[in-house]
Amino acid sequence: MQLPIYLDYASTTPVDPRVAEKMADCLTMGGVFANPASRSHVYGWQAEEQVELARRHVASLLACDPREIVWTSGATESNNLALKGIFESAEFAGGLVTSTSEHKAIIDPAKWLSEKGVTVHWLEPGRDGVIDVEKVRLAISDQVRLVSIMLVNNETGVINPIAEIGKLCREKGVLLHVDASQAVGRVDIDVSRLSVDLMSVSAHKFYGPKGVGALYVRRSIQSQLKPLILGGGHERGMRSGTLATHQLAGMGEAARLIKELEDVEADELAAKRDCLWAGIEDLPGVRRNGGSQNISPSHLNVCFSGVDGETLLLALRELAVSSGSACTSASLDPSYVLTAMGISDEDARRSIRISIGRFTSDDDVNNAVDHIRKIYTELNQTQSI
Ligand SMILES: *Cc1c(COP(=O)(O)O)cnc(C)c1O
Repeated sequence: MQLPIYLDYASTTPVDPRVAEKMADCLTMGGVFANPASRSHVYGWQAEEQVELARRHVASLLACDPREIVWTSGATESNNLALKGIFESAEFAGGLVTSTSEHKAIIDPAKWLSEKGVTVHWLEPGRDGVIDVEKVRLAISDQVRLVSIMLVNNETGVINPIAEIGKLCREKGVLLHVDASQAVGRVDIDVSRLSVDLMSVSAHKFYGPKGVGALYVRRSIQSQLKPLILGGGHERGMRSGTLATHQLAGMGEAARLIKELEDVEADELAAKRDCLWAGIEDLPGVRRNGGSQNISPSHLNVCFSGVDGETLLLALRELAVSSGSACTSASLDPSYVLTAMGISDEDARRSIRISIGRFTSDDDVNNAVDHIRKIYTELNQTQSI
C-alpha cells in the first residue's frame, strides 16, 4: 500500500532523527538513565545536567530565565496548571477572559472554573479568526484576574495580536496566559516583548516527543500559582514527579534545533504553503478560511464549497489531512473554531486543514496539488449530474 503524504503537522510532528538519537542516549545502562533528583551519585548528577541543559534550550527559545520553565506532560497539562493554578490560589475569586476559538485544553478547564464560581468572559473571534484587542479591553473589569488567549490557532493558523493584548494586560494589572503550542518555530516568541506571564508549549508540535511540555511562569508570579500535582516538590514545588530525562533531553534538543533553524525554516514553510495554495486557488468555489494575512507559515485551512466535506476527506486518499482538529474530528460536528468565526455549519463541514512541516518536500506539495485538483474536479462533476 502506498502511504498518503503526511500533511497534518498541526496535529503532531514526527520526532527529528537528531532528537530521537539524544533520547536513546538517555534510556539504558551506559547512558544518562538515572533519576535527576538523585543527589548522592554521579549517575544522578549526569541526569540533572542533561535536564538543566534542556531547560536552558527551552528558556532560550522563549527568551526567558531557565528558572521560569516548569516541565509538564504537554500543553494540555500546562494549560490546566496555568488556569487552575492561578484561580485555586485565589480561591476561585475573580474573572477569566478567554475565547471561543481556543483549543479544548483551554475551553474545558475554563468551563470547569466557571462551575467553581469563576466568571468567564468568552470572546468571539472576528470573521478573520483574530481576537480583537478592543474586545479584550472591554471585557477586562476590576474583577478580572487572568486573560488566556492563544498565539497561533491550531485549526486556522491565525496569529493573535498578543504583544498588544500583553501591553493592555500590564496596564490593567491583569495576568496573561498564552497557549503557544502551535507557534514555536513558526512565529517569533519572546515572553518579555509579548508581556506574557504564563506560556504553554508542547514538544510534539516542534519535532520533539509526545508526552512532554513546559509552562513558562514569570518569576514574580510564581507564588500565585498553586500546583496541581503534589508529591516530592519537584520543579520548585510547582509540579511534582520524577523528571523524564529522555523526554526532556528530547524536548531540549528539539528546542535547540528549531531555534537554530528558526528564521530560515519559517520562510521555507511559508514558500511551500503559498505554493500549495497557488496550485489550487483557481478551483471554483475554493476559499481560504482566515484569509491570507497573519497566518502561521505551516497552516492552510481551505473551504471547498460545492462538495461534501466528509466525501472530500474520504476521496483525498493520497493525503493525510484533517477536518477541524484531531481532537474533535472523531465527531461529525462542524469545527467550532470555524463556526465561531461566523462560517456556516455547511461551509465548516466542507473545510480541510492542510498543515506542513520540516519534512514536507517540494514533491509532496506538487503531488498534493495534483491530487486535490483531480479529486475536486471529479467530485464537482459527479455532484452536478
Ligand atoms: C496540540 C495542542 C495542545 C495540546 O498539547 P498536548 O501536548 O498534546 O497536550 C494544546 N493547545 C494547542 C493550541 C495545541 O495545538
